[in-house]
Amino acid sequence: MQTLTRKRDLRKAEPLWADTPRHTVRTQSRLSAHDVDVLIVGAGISGALMANALIAHDLRILMVDRRKPISGSSMASTAMIQHELDVPLHQLNRTLGSASARRIWQRSARAVENLASLVDALRIPCQFERRNTLYLSGSSYGARALQAEVKAREAASLEATLLTQAELRARFDIDRTAAIETRVSASANPAQLTSGFLRHAQASGIPIVENVEITDIREIGGRNAVATADGQIILATHVVFCTGYEFLKSVANKNHAIVSTWALATAPRHPRPDWLDDYLVWEGADPYIYFRSTRDGRIIVGGEDEKSDDAFQDPAKLKSKSDILRRKLSDLIGFRIGEPEYRWAAAFGVTAQGLPMIGRAPGMQNVFAAMGYGGNGITFSQIAAEIISSAILGHADPDAALFPFTT
Ligand SMILES: Cc1cc2nc3c(=O)[nH]c(=O)nc-3n(C[C@H](O)[C@H](O)[C@H](O)COP(=O)(O)OP(=O)(O)OC[C@H]3O[C@@H](n4cnc5c(N)ncnc54)[C@H](O)[C@@H]3O)c2cc1C
Repeated sequence: MQTLTRKRDLRKAEPLWADTPRHTVRTQSRLSAHDVDVLIVGAGISGALMANALIAHDLRILMVDRRKPISGSSMASTAMIQHELDVPLHQLNRTLGSASARRIWQRSARAVENLASLVDALRIPCQFERRNTLYLSGSSYGARALQAEVKAREAASLEATLLTQAELRARFDIDRTAAIETRVSASANPAQLTSGFLRHAQASGIPIVENVEITDIREIGGRNAVATADGQIILATHVVFCTGYEFLKSVANKNHAIVSTWALATAPRHPRPDWLDDYLVWEGADPYIYFRSTRDGRIIVGGEDEKSDDAFQDPAKLKSKSDILRRKLSDLIGFRIGEPEYRWAAAFGVTAQGLPMIGRAPGMQNVFAAMGYGGNGITFSQIAAEIISSAILGHADPDAALFPFTT
């Protein structure tokens, strides 16, 4: 069957979040509204934040998903909610020019703060915790690159502290040539984070309907006629595709790719360094590993990405990749990582510059897409919600042009 967003398997094996309470939302099984102001396609974290940004503006909003809510990539996320982009600022300065690069990094930092404030204001129970970040030197970015990075961040008024090899050893017992320490980050249970926002949307009158697949869209007289797989038509003034790695075919281009990634979670109360509960850790390497702890003392480790959109489906790799992640982490922190309780693998969207693609779908007037690709997809979902909701509400967002579909 024809569909606007190619259906793909998004995950292999269940992550720990699938076993936590409040990770689901009750939905409607049938469409009750066929004429709305805003149709949001996709009930993951991007759709949830999008709906939240439009609440309280007296709009008729409908959210649909071809699956159950939160069963796409948001369920697989390790939810390190970072402002640090995959491509360092000093590097992005060179490719985009420092004016744009700084605004992107500053916007990312603001988005983490905004998301934290929203979670706080709505009292969403999702184990949201503020964290520091430790970005370690690695094979792609060594000590000299990290020095240049701290300078670039200081010039952009972003706080960042360079740690020398000796300081890193003394405070963290990690043997790398340098690291950057920052404060602006957070972590959460991504399924509970998403379900919290979706419940709030529902309580504010936004219906969420599952098993509705959007297959076609036509602009007619300034509105959109949107077709579903079972032959229904929804009329919508604005349509927002929050479809994650199942992107709109019309925005596909060579600058983004779907790769494979792996993650694991240990048993609770796993031995770990004391400092880990306050930090998210990652490294300037390609592929990089990243890790954090959870409130119940699990260690979550992820990475080992492969440039293949289906390698994550290989059952043998679920074990072999997790063994590599465990070994690399043990070598780094000097703690033996026990047999994991959860191992999972997933598709993962990346872009050449580590940037999301946000805005009006090319060639369409009132159709938008939020493609928050890269290691900080959740932060990008928040930026997308802010930028796209502004466009729908008729306010200009000064950063709207920073995340185009074509670069
Ligand atoms: C293993 C892993 C670890 C990650 N770690 C982090 C991290 O630490 N920090 C971070 O910030 N980000 C991380 N990410 C990225 C982050 O999880 C994603 O950016 C985010 O979950 C994407 O959310 P989404 O709502 O856009 O997509 P999804 O959660 O996939 O939701 C999209 C929804 O759209 C629906 N859909 C698609 N097409 C249609 C259609 N035609 N009709 C109806 N419905 C449709 C799908 O069914 C799906 O439910 C990670 C991702 C993975 C896979």
